[in-house]
Amino acid sequence: MKFKDIIGNESTKNLLRLMIDNDRIPHAILLTGPQGIGKLAMARAAAQYLHCEHRTGGEPCGKCPSCLQHQSFNHADTFFSFPVIKGKSNSKPTSDDYIAEWKHFLTENPIENYQKWLKELNNENAQPQIYASESANIITKMSYASYTAKYKVLILWLPEKMNEECANKLLKIIEEPFPDSIFIMVSDNPKEILPTIYSRLQIIEMKKLSTDDVATYLERTYNLSHQDAIAVAAPANGNIITAQETIALDGENKEFFENFVSLMRLAYARNLKALKAWAENINNFKREKIKRFMQYLARMVRENYIYNMRQPALNYLNSAEEQFSMRFAPFINDGNAERMMTEIEKAERDITGNANGKIVLFDFAIKITILIKR
Ligand SMILES: [Zn+2]
Repeated sequence: MKFKDIIGNESTKNLLRLMIDNDRIPHAILLTGPQGIGKLAMARAAAQYLHCEHRTGGEPCGKCPSCLQHQSFNHADTFFSFPVIKGKSNSKPTSDDYIAEWKHFLTENPIENYQKWLKELNNENAQPQIYASESANIITKMSYASYTAKYKVLILWLPEKMNEECANKLLKIIEEPFPDSIFIMVSDNPKEILPTIYSRLQIIEMKKLSTDDVATYLERTYNLSHQDAIAVAAPANGNIITAQETIALDGENKEFFENFVSLMRLAYARNLKALKAWAENINNFKREKIKRFMQYLARMVRENYIYNMRQPALNYLNSAEEQFSMRFAPFINDGNAERMMTEIEKAERDITGNANGKIVLFDFAIKITILIKR
């Protein structure tokens, strides 16, 4: 992981570079800040930079033996601790028991995502912890002389998930660290860290990303056009994970868009027979998906209404949606926008209330036919 692979938070990168270049590194650092900004990635970049044998231009070289080991999660003097769950035959789990899952998780999710970690643990309802068994493991690892590097590094993800016994056992080596050992902790909820631990950490606060930062990440990672990246990034409120979830739903978004377009075209053409088939098709979605579709319709009506005011800054349409709206938007206006929203909400409510979906949706389609004036 290089610093340049992390979007934004340039001042945090510079601070870490400065500490490392001057060999004045606090022995226990805490990286905090909102979710979905890449705090764990920052910790990994710092560790790689620290161990790199040929730092250049404020970046690890990416080529020396130490960098290669970092990039394959096999660096001899870098350890990871993270929340895990108890197994059927393992009542004292440690991070080492889940190291294969962990490497897979980091490879798939350079921006760490707690929900994805639960999936990796194969239990989305689990409440993983860092157990007392882990503290013994950490103390052993950190007490050995380092193998190749000057510094041993322990990257501890989510210290707020340490149980009290673990935290108490670790307290001593955080207070009186082994020589040349560095803890880099990464927290989403620093308020939940035991105060005795928290008070001994050097806090480095990372900031929320801007919409442009999130969009840049999406353009780089998913090859999106700038317009599509902004359309996804703007509602994500600086959180890359939220934006990624939107993209994961992209297949569904396309299906919703196509059904929105055919509803409006058929309503305009007053093609009742085809609208009946449309209602039947939508009714074949699962109930939760119908609700998401109705919310999508509401968003499209709102966006098209705004589109008429020619205020592009307010619009979050992707390129296909905008293409359609260029000609369609005038049909959503002061005369019908509000009533359309009311009908959408009513249909959604009726479907949630277990009414016959086919009838509700066909009835809804007829209302749209009446509201779209020729
Ligand atoms: Zn290197």
